[in-house]
Amino acid sequence: AYVVTDACIGCKYTDCVDVCPVNCFHEGPEMLYINPEECIDCNACVAECPPEAIWADVELPEDKFEWIQINGEMSQQY
Ligand code: SF4
Repeated sequence: AYVVTDACIGCKYTDCVDVCPVNCFHEGPEMLYINPEECIDCNACVAECPPEAIWADVELPEDKFEWIQINGEMSQQY
């Protein structure tokens, strides 16, 4: 699944939401989250994010691993 990281905080540009074919973005108060069970790994959202906040989980740098769990939890809450 794809993962939204801290670069989204305070941005929420939301063009990614418009291109997602399965509508798996969930909007929290500070940033967006991707539901990993719904994401189909289509890669459409990555190019639409100006701060480059969205990564494939398999390509995440080690210092951003925590965002996998955060997206999983927060996408259930919002
Ligand atoms: Fe949606 Fe595709 Fe991005 Fe997954 S990779 S969040 S399915 S646009």
